[in-house]
Amino acid sequence: MEKDFDLIIVGGGPIGIACGLEAQKKGLSYLIIEKGPIVNSLFNYPVNMQFFSSSEKLEIDEIPFISKEAKPKRNEALEYYRRIVTSNKLNIHLFEKVSSVKTYNEVFQVKTEKETYSSRQVIISTGFYDLPNKLNVPGEELPKVSHYYKDPHFYANQKLAVVGASNSAVDAALECWRKGADVTMIIRGPEVGQRVKYWVRPDIINRIEEGSIKAYYNTTVSEIRPDVIILNTPKGEVELPNDFVLALTGYMPNFEFLETMGIQLSEDEKRLPDYNPETMETNIKGLYLAGVICGGMETHKWFIENSRIHAKIIIAEILKKIKANTKTVSSPSLKEGKPH
Ligand SMILES: Cc1cc2nc3c(=O)[nH]c(=O)nc-3n(C[C@H](O)[C@H](O)[C@H](O)COP(=O)(O)OP(=O)(O)OC[C@H]3O[C@@H](n4cnc5c(N)ncnc54)[C@H](O)[C@@H]3O)c2cc1C
Repeated sequence: MEKDFDLIIVGGGPIGIACGLEAQKKGLSYLIIEKGPIVNSLFNYPVNMQFFSSSEKLEIDEIPFISKEAKPKRNEALEYYRRIVTSNKLNIHLFEKVSSVKTYNEVFQVKTEKETYSSRQVIISTGFYDLPNKLNVPGEELPKVSHYYKDPHFYANQKLAVVGASNSAVDAALECWRKGADVTMIIRGPEVGQRVKYWVRPDIINRIEEGSIKAYYNTTVSEIRPDVIILNTPKGEVELPNDFVLALTGYMPNFEFLETMGIQLSEDEKRLPDYNPETMETNIKGLYLAGVICGGMETHKWFIENSRIHAKIIIAEILKKIKANTKTVSSPSLKEGKPH
């Protein structure tokens, strides 16, 4: 098995796949390493999830994405990205987690649970969906609490508290209520999030106003017990009977992973990784960032629509560097258009 590459891409989400496809087209030897199945984050999205982007905005390399409705569903996106990987025979290792990326004399050593690989360039495209923003309250570890929402059927006839007021929380609240759950939203601020999809926001506001879905504003959860949750409301403590809690309060990138590679993070609460937006190269030479990981704690800033471009930017930069080097030394692996 080949273990030495021009480029290793950590993370096989839509953007890691876009990077692999571009690398292949340009004749670089590359390997995508993904810890789960193809587009693992999308696989773990709610089963009925519909993207807010229309399908052409999720296309990579202008490969047509045909969906039934203008905005595709999760299953259609899985089909699209999976077909890109299989039809183009992308070089991807699945269910292989990268544990460390270290550099020695400008060569990276990428360690996984199974192997150690080397490459001159590495792209980190690990997204932000692995680490939920925790509530940090007693009882959060109870099995009735989840930071991921999958299927409304599970919550039918149950008292469900949905913590959060952004798209994920609102979609879950509406869907579960429509499948027969008794839903209460716990909202930290004074209103439903302003970034909630403009066609969904009136729906949730109307359901709350008519009393179908209950909502506590300016409220936080202070404790979760097996059959109740304790709320801190503007009117004092409230004890709410409860069967399940969906804490949908967002996610964050794995900052520790970035720091162990030597990538600098801003010291403010945004924790923005240090990279050059013109090349996507970080403060470590040859180490690039792609996709939604670039936003640090600002996870709403980047999405597929506006980060798919990272693939072409990075590969163009890598080719430029390789060409500059091959003026003196020739690179045998650079064969235009040859898949690896
Ligand atoms: C519910 C929801 C709806 C969204 N809707 C839209 C939308 O409509 N339009 C839009 O443009 N964007 C949308 N987004 C944002 C965007 O789709 C996702 O964040 C997208 O998945 C980002 O792509 P990515 O490749 O950067 O990261 P990801 O898709 O998160 O891919 C990262 C990959 O890295 C892997 N990984 C992580 N750590 C390791 C490791 N150590 N070793 C190996 N592999 C690793 C993960 O398993 C994962 O597959 C949505 C996000 C969410 C949560």
